[in-house]
Amino acid sequence: MAKPSGEFRLKGINASPGICIGKAYLVDKEGVDIVARYYVEKEKLPGEVKRFKAAVKRARDEIRSVIDDSPEELQRAHILETHLALLKDKMLYGKTIETIETEGVNAEWALKQVVSKIKSVFLSMANAYLKERASDIVHVSDSIMRNLIGVKAEKIADIDKRVILVARDLSPADTSQINLEKIKGFITDRGGKASHTGIVAQALEIPAVVGLKHATSRIKSDNLIIVDGNAGQVIVNPSEKSLVKYEERKMDYEQYRAVITRDSHLAAKTTDGINVDVMANIELPEEVVSVKNYGGDGIGLYRTEFQYMNRTIFPNEEELFEKYKDVVEFMAPKPVTIRTLDINGDKAVSNQNGQDEANPALGLRSIRYCLRKPDIFLTQMRAILRAAAFGNVRILFPMIAAYFEISEAKKLLDQAAGSLEKEGLPYNRDIQAGIMIEVPSAVVLADFLAEKVDFFSIGTNDLIQYALAIDRLNPNVAHLYQPLDPAVIRLIKMVADVAKDKGIEVHMCGEMAAATHHIPLLLGLGLDELSMNPQSIPHIKRVIRSLSISDARAFMQGVLKKRTARGVFELVKEAYGDLLDTGYGMPRGG
Ligand code: PEP
Ligand code: MG
Repeated sequence: MAKPSGEFRLKGINASPGICIGKAYLVDKEGVDIVARYYVEKEKLPGEVKRFKAAVKRARDEIRSVIDDSPEELQRAHILETHLALLKDKMLYGKTIETIETEGVNAEWALKQVVSKIKSVFLSMANAYLKERASDIVHVSDSIMRNLIGVKAEKIADIDKRVILVARDLSPADTSQINLEKIKGFITDRGGKASHTGIVAQALEIPAVVGLKHATSRIKSDNLIIVDGNAGQVIVNPSEKSLVKYEERKMDYEQYRAVITRDSHLAAKTTDGINVDVMANIELPEEVVSVKNYGGDGIGLYRTEFQYMNRTIFPNEEELFEKYKDVVEFMAPKPVTIRTLDINGDKAVSNQNGQDEANPALGLRSIRYCLRKPDIFLTQMRAILRAAAFGNVRILFPMIAAYFEISEAKKLLDQAAGSLEKEGLPYNRDIQAGIMIEVPSAVVLADFLAEKVDFFSIGTNDLIQYALAIDRLNPNVAHLYQPLDPAVIRLIKMVADVAKDKGIEVHMCGEMAAATHHIPLLLGLGLDELSMNPQSIPHIKRVIRSLSISDARAFMQGVLKKRTARGVFELVKEAYGDLLDTGYGMPRGG
């Protein structure tokens, strides 16, 4: 008989979708938190540096062997390669050696100081993706630290029970060792949505919830747990009732997943026969594996900022070229839309010695920054044009607010091509060039701007911010940030109408495109392509297949008469209520 179960729930971040039910297995990944400081005599400092270098080498060998043993899909994602590179990163490797030498301290202490400084810089960033990069530094430094101290890491590959892993943190090197026949899913105290660990879980297609804070203190090995990777929730010691409910949800979800996965590689064609390309937004080159898995028709937005963040020297052309080429070759012949540098604003660069800006969102960000620093801009454009020789590339200029900006950007693009030509390097200038429409002035000037470009891509994240005067990062005004505001809908309509009139394509790559109940509006307004986080692709494709463009157009007549976001929402609910998200990762009845 069911005894009182003492069920409780923990809320975290959904890092990889799916539901699994099973016994918890606590992994002890700690033991290197407490580090002693001692001073090293001057003549022994070279030996201390040597000891540090040897630990880095052992960490390197460990990661290499995980790479060699991991599934091909993961190898191609180059996630662990990123960690290999970080091991020798100047910020980490160089600074630690410098600290040992200048402060005369032991390697463990120097490493700990350096990591804590790098971590705080990353964590202070507003951008969630960049914030998450702090965890890469921590994972890499943990592996060095373990080797310095001589603590053996528990090998995930050796676990041979059917369990769900519970850990304070798991590195991509840990999760890459997961044996899919044994491990059903994992949960961690730390981590965020954009973590590499989450990306590995998605590539392996196992459920994962991260950022639970207290999972390891509240769950014991062998506790029965349910991991709901869709909702980002963990149910510990579930009652009979919860078990039955989640068994059912798990089955529903698996069935649904099977259907959408089966169809995700097919085109998203409406019931009246119109194809809508459903593309992916990526921040990290490693995400291309998810894009393929989820059936993306290409990459609609490759945010290239990450490679520039938090370093003292910006990446050189070769480094950028290699990264872009990897993505482009992997996706070929599907298109990859590489957006040029969109830094500052909410994505601060560290090597800027300029003053702080009072209003960074209105400051020297994005294309403004690039036009001010043509050398940096030209380096990136040369890398893009060179990568374009290896597949299907489009270039996308962000934050265009004035006509002269696109004229100048294109002039510099020609200059970049000219210099490559002169040097005899292979490149492809015959690529589509587009602009992000994310500033209201660009909407107003869309007809002029259309003369200069091959496509528009509407960035609703910023367009809503600038049109409604709402800081997209300010929680006090988050309730006013409404994609369905009639003003936003009119702006999108203006852009789409101009694009049609001028015979160019109009895309959307803001978050607005990833919500199912927005799709009838976007189809009704005439968007040709939608781009979103890779996980949403199968789901959105399925929604598109259930809709007709002509119905959506007729529906828009009513929408355009509404005066408030609520009014629009009510109309959507009335006509397309079954598309409202259940919070369960799929539309009702899906
Ligand atoms: C946008 O503004 O909608 C967009 C896609 O760009 P980002 O979120 O990178 O500013
Ligand atoms: Mg933007």
